[in-house]
Amino acid sequence: MGGGALRVRRRALMFQVRFWGVRGSIPTPGESTVEVGGNTACVEVRCGEEIIILDGGTGLRGLGEKLMAEAPVRASMFFSHVHWDHIQGFPFFLPALAPGNHIELYGGSNVTTTLAETLAGQMNFPNFPLTLEQMAASMEFHECVDGQVIEIADDVTVQALSLNHPNGCYGYRVEHRGKAMCYCTDTEQLEEPDANVLQLAKGAELFIYDSQYTPEEYTGEKSGLPRVGWGHSTFEQGARLAKLAGAKRLVLFHHDPAQGDAQVRDKEARCRKLFPKTDAAREGLCYEL
Ligand SMILES: [Zn+2]
Ligand SMILES: [Zn+2]
Repeated sequence: MGGGALRVRRRALMFQVRFWGVRGSIPTPGESTVEVGGNTACVEVRCGEEIIILDGGTGLRGLGEKLMAEAPVRASMFFSHVHWDHIQGFPFFLPALAPGNHIELYGGSNVTTTLAETLAGQMNFPNFPLTLEQMAASMEFHECVDGQVIEIADDVTVQALSLNHPNGCYGYRVEHRGKAMCYCTDTEQLEEPDANVLQLAKGAELFIYDSQYTPEEYTGEKSGLPRVGWGHSTFEQGARLAKLAGAKRLVLFHHDPAQGDAQVRDKEARCRKLFPKTDAAREGLCYEL
């Protein structure tokens, strides 16, 4: 077999997850976040020839630059929800701006506007120089329904289930070659373990979970400002859910803007005591499943 044939075969077998933005709420560039990165939510998943993008936070800009080397680009984007930190990279996503590319976009229509209307709205005059209509790639929008399983290719499925977050949010489970990865960000912990999270994370190789806070930050015991009701969880809850779901590896995601590299490392070390196979998400982190 020649090198070319080997490469094609390797790509067909690929199930890869790469982090482009790991921060929650607002981008946080600066000296204290160089190691972890300051871009907001964006994760690239490769299943064979399929390119799946989870969320379009500011990390999406860097991913777009890389994808342009593979043009024409054909990708499926899944938005957990439309808060700023999950959509702001989209106007800067080069594959959407360039003709000849095709993007399928999935997300909820659980707020007063559809996904297409929200993505167009953030580019409306006077907020942005271009409109969504001026983005030259062809785009097809799909409404996700709670519990839906979307078959995006042969042996590549994505399941959507609703999470506990103000204005709603979807978690996703991507399955390929009998393996699964789970993306559950922007979800607040419940008293009882969230059955939807457990279903999405069941036996997953990789369980990406909203671990914005430490338990003390969540309850506000030091700051006097509890974060209860803000729509996010703790690493402690991530470890609990990972164990219950039988997930193989937990990735702490959606780091709070106030946490510098040292705080994220500390969160990771504390979580490893509860669930040893834990990593804090960092920009550039990549897993082969
Ligand atoms: Zn968020
Ligand atoms: Zn949110």
